[in-house]
Amino acid sequence: MKANVISFFYKFKCTAENCTDNCCRAWELPVDEETYERYLEKKNLEGLKLRLSVKKDGKGGRILRMPFGKCPHLSKERLCSLQCKGDECLMPKVCRLFPRYTVSYGSTGIGMIDLACREATRLFLEQEGRLSLIPAQESLEIYWEIEEADDSFEEALLTDLELILDELWKEDDSATEEKERRIFTHIYIEHLDLVRGETESIGKAGFSYEYLEQTHPDEIPFLLKERSKAVYSGDMFIPSGFINNIIYSEFEEGYLILYHRSALKLINAFKKKYGKLYEKDADAFFMEKWKELTGKYEWLEGKFKSYLSYKLQMNYPGAGIDYYIIEPVLMAMVSAEILRMFIITHTQMGNDLNMNDLSGLICECERLTSHNIPFTKRVMERARKELF
Ligand code: SF4
Repeated sequence: MKANVISFFYKFKCTAENCTDNCCRAWELPVDEETYERYLEKKNLEGLKLRLSVKKDGKGGRILRMPFGKCPHLSKERLCSLQCKGDECLMPKVCRLFPRYTVSYGSTGIGMIDLACREATRLFLEQEGRLSLIPAQESLEIYWEIEEADDSFEEALLTDLELILDELWKEDDSATEEKERRIFTHIYIEHLDLVRGETESIGKAGFSYEYLEQTHPDEIPFLLKERSKAVYSGDMFIPSGFINNIIYSEFEEGYLILYHRSALKLINAFKKKYGKLYEKDADAFFMEKWKELTGKYEWLEGKFKSYLSYKLQMNYPGAGIDYYIIEPVLMAMVSAEILRMFIITHTQMGNDLNMNDLSGLICECERLTSHNIPFTKRVMERARKELF
């Protein structure tokens, strides 16, 4: 299997007890079959304890029980007790690898670093501009194996991803929002062709609205039709009303109280401040605030673009699973827009913004939006009704 990893993959080192935001909490942690077999093999009291730490997830798999939202193996010193005892093989695979996120699509392996880890995010923010994949130095331990992936389609997706990133990083005067619109246009055209079984279209569609009008005049989605002019006037590409509705209705308060208190604070401040805005004024309001911020913090626009770029790199190769290429691209944009709202709210609460704050905000955003299949499904359902 040929494998590539993101350029800072090997730089990551867990900060363990010094981590300001320990990851052994607030997750649904799957226990893989191989690890669970090891628990069954242990016949002593330790084996019993390990087996009791696991429950069924109702979907045919097993997850760790999380009393008070914390991993049962987390020690008082905020360390993984299994790892401290040298029992790494008893740690669920996801914990052994985290935040390394490794997937194989057929014969292609990809290693990324999950930004839901505070140290990973710090490292990510140290990188500049567009990141690339480099050949893996050693054989990559794979977490997700997508065996049924079609190799040639996967290869086409990776080529297309580079075209999308070329568009995002093209040095011209257009704003990131305009680039989002062009990327989405490109993806939408390819999606329409894919629906007709034209898989060879991947990597060949244009990026302009005019190209879409010429090739698919009767199939232009609301999002592109309505936003084609708005974006030129400096509005957000994904309407702020859409992001606002997600923040309002997709993050349950009970869940936030239990697991994400700082996100809850942020979301409540967001609701209090912006809940009464008229939808038609909201885009202009947020873009004005964003302009003020990017004027004050010159590095901010670049970091925002890097985050969007990284999310595209993380999500897009997965489109080969069901050939639905719109979902990974739209979800990357939704995550970036939620981050934008978090950044604006953070500063509106009277806080300054530095790299450390941004790393915390990215982490919150990742924990609320990524690896969350029900969330993705609900957002896509909403998008089908409101944006297409
Ligand atoms: S969040 Fe990252 S740095 Fe912190 S304990 Fe987890 S893996 Fe280590």
